[in-house]
Amino acid sequence: MTTFAETAVARPPAQEEMLHSFLLAAAATTPDSPAVAQFVANDTVQTVSYHQLEELTRGYALALDSLGLDMGDRVILESDTSAHAIAMLLACSTLGLPFVPVSPETPDQRLHKIIETTGASLHVQAEGGKRESIPEATGTGRFGAGKLTVDRLPHPRTRRRRELCATDTAYMIFTSGTTGRPKGVVMSHRAVTSFYRGMLSQGIVGPQDKVATTSPLQFDFSLLDIGLALGSGAAVVPVPRKLMRWPTRFLRVLADTGATQVNGVPSIWRQSLKHLPDAVAALKDVRGVLFCGEDFPLPELRRLQQLLPHARLINCYGATESMACSFTDVPRPLPNGLEKLSIGYAHPGAEMLLVDESGHLIEEEEVPGEIHLRTPALFTGYWDDPKASAAARVPDPAEPRSGQLVLKTGDLAFRGPHGELYFCGRVDSQVQIRGNRVELGEVERRLLEHPEVAEATVLLLERAGVEPVLAAAVVARAGADSLGDGRLTAFCGQALQSYMVPDEIHFLAELPVTENGKVDRRSLAFRFAEGG
Ligand code: ADP
Repeated sequence: MTTFAETAVARPPAQEEMLHSFLLAAAATTPDSPAVAQFVANDTVQTVSYHQLEELTRGYALALDSLGLDMGDRVILESDTSAHAIAMLLACSTLGLPFVPVSPETPDQRLHKIIETTGASLHVQAEGGKRESIPEATGTGRFGAGKLTVDRLPHPRTRRRRELCATDTAYMIFTSGTTGRPKGVVMSHRAVTSFYRGMLSQGIVGPQDKVATTSPLQFDFSLLDIGLALGSGAAVVPVPRKLMRWPTRFLRVLADTGATQVNGVPSIWRQSLKHLPDAVAALKDVRGVLFCGEDFPLPELRRLQQLLPHARLINCYGATESMACSFTDVPRPLPNGLEKLSIGYAHPGAEMLLVDESGHLIEEEEVPGEIHLRTPALFTGYWDDPKASAAARVPDPAEPRSGQLVLKTGDLAFRGPHGELYFCGRVDSQVQIRGNRVELGEVERRLLEHPEVAEATVLLLERAGVEPVLAAAVVARAGADSLGDGRLTAFCGQALQSYMVPDEIHFLAELPVTENGKVDRRSLAFRFAEGG
């Protein structure tokens, strides 16, 4: 075991298009302001200033640099959001090492696929992390208290790169993929800092704010929160993952840390609104709530607005491929007959276009089309997947001859009277489960990997008054005897994130088909609708 102390490092000067210099800018102007306020054991709040965050980053960068990795080498960063995890990702950014955040809850098989796909040089996890069995070809280490302890050195590398460019990869986020392997969204320093600039121009938070972040580090929503807070000179307040499950404790963290802004998917509020409305109303410091990832059910949103009458509620829309793209204020009060929230307009510096099936722009009201996003925050491509990249990064429909590429989002929307957009579904089989993106095809593939499964179809079931659930219809092979008693569910859980594991598995003798021979999803949905 080798513990690396300081070694010399010389790198190009910071540039404002680099993720690390962007996020650490406040270290020069307000070094003593809190950058991270952490809720730690015995319920105390520990503060890390911008100066301290910069020092931590420097320490981790020196330690990483001594490992001899080349710019562009991938580092898997396994952690919950914390001051140290933020410092570690900033250190990777400083050295031009793309980081791939993963959650400690990621199943081994999925992590191994990510390591194999990315050819990661190094896996680092936060001290206390329980991950073992990292493939031999990848170095391993643990970080905490400003030190990186390396358990297995990465393979020696030849350094070929010298100058970090704004177009270099800052990070890669893995989302659900239709092909059965996770899909790596590659983002450059320029893309992410452009997005941050667009977001910050909306004046969502100021330097006095404390931004509670609830999304696991492996989703770019957490990087959005970090950018929103640090880019504004404010503090990030990571809400510990384990406490999120308990509404009492979740609200307690918000109250005890004095969080002024709370970001997360709509479902983080569900239990609290239902069971602890008084405790929600008691969150007097909260002046902003930003939600993202899926529609916020309007009755719940109305309730939240009533309980937090002074808070600005923001509907953030977008996808990992540009981090996000719009920030729309929820009207106050929500009009009584309102049926749908608007996703508004793209942030300054970007534009959402609506395109019909034949590739023409739609200008009229109420006509649905697919959102195409023209933005400097466009992702670089999907890792090692030129076909999928070309399908998502397409010529600008407004002027295809220009060579400009835009993001074909797969999201459908229509325009309102002022040109604002309303999200109205997907063109494919991607769904959102508690704000998490899931490709039904990826879940189906996992089910079919089981040797005793002959056929499988997965669908999203929306039942009145409850959260949508993932349901699988499975036809077992003759003589199958190891699928029941939750065993097929456990098999899925070995390779899929927990939110991708079907909540219900229905065993059928055969799958119903439509007249043209496709699996009849509608009849399945109807059959399962009542839980039967
Ligand atoms: P995010 O982290 O922004 O949810 P994902 O890449 O995980 O990004 O999922 C993106 C998809 O989530 C979008 O393409 C869209 O279908 C859905 N989505 C994101 N934000 C919203 C929103 N505010 N309202 C409705 N659907 C949304």
